[in-house]
Amino acid sequence: MKSEEKMDIVEKTAREWMIKRGVKIEDIAELVYFLQEKYHPELTMDECIENVDRVLMKREVQNAILTGIQFDVLAEENKLVEPLQTIIGTDESLYGVDEILAFSIVNIYGSIGFTNYGYIDKLKPGILQYLNDKSSGKCHTFLDDIVGAIAAAASSRLAHRAKDVE
Ligand SMILES: [Mg+2]
Repeated sequence: MKSEEKMDIVEKTAREWMIKRGVKIEDIAELVYFLQEKYHPELTMDECIENVDRVLMKREVQNAILTGIQFDVLAEENKLVEPLQTIIGTDESLYGVDEILAFSIVNIYGSIGFTNYGYIDKLKPGILQYLNDKSSGKCHTFLDDIVGAIAAAASSRLAHRAKDVE
């Protein structure tokens, strides 16, 4: 991970907000492990963490994190204007803008990211299950898709690099 002073304010804030919303790098790394262990039997958690960290260095990812979490927090505080307050606050299934925002992340390391994204979005393992727990009183309408997308992008990065090594 980069030292604090080398990180600019956007990256620093994006990383801090994720942690504040209950998502650690390790949580996303576990999703990467879940997606990739069958293809890379030697895979370690450290490699997964490293790949997630690299994805988090990308400006388009940081922008998606900040934008998505901002909407989640405002919805949680009942501060959005209707009808958006109800749509985001209740995570209305036909909304879809949360997914569109996440696609800006999925795309970074090529199209195999979409397959990975679709797969964990369906199964919702680990941290995704926590983020989707509507009984928590928290709103993670955007963050669940963003976290899934970061895991998918990190998996693609890992897969491409493994291929290069071969
Ligand atoms: Mg969502």
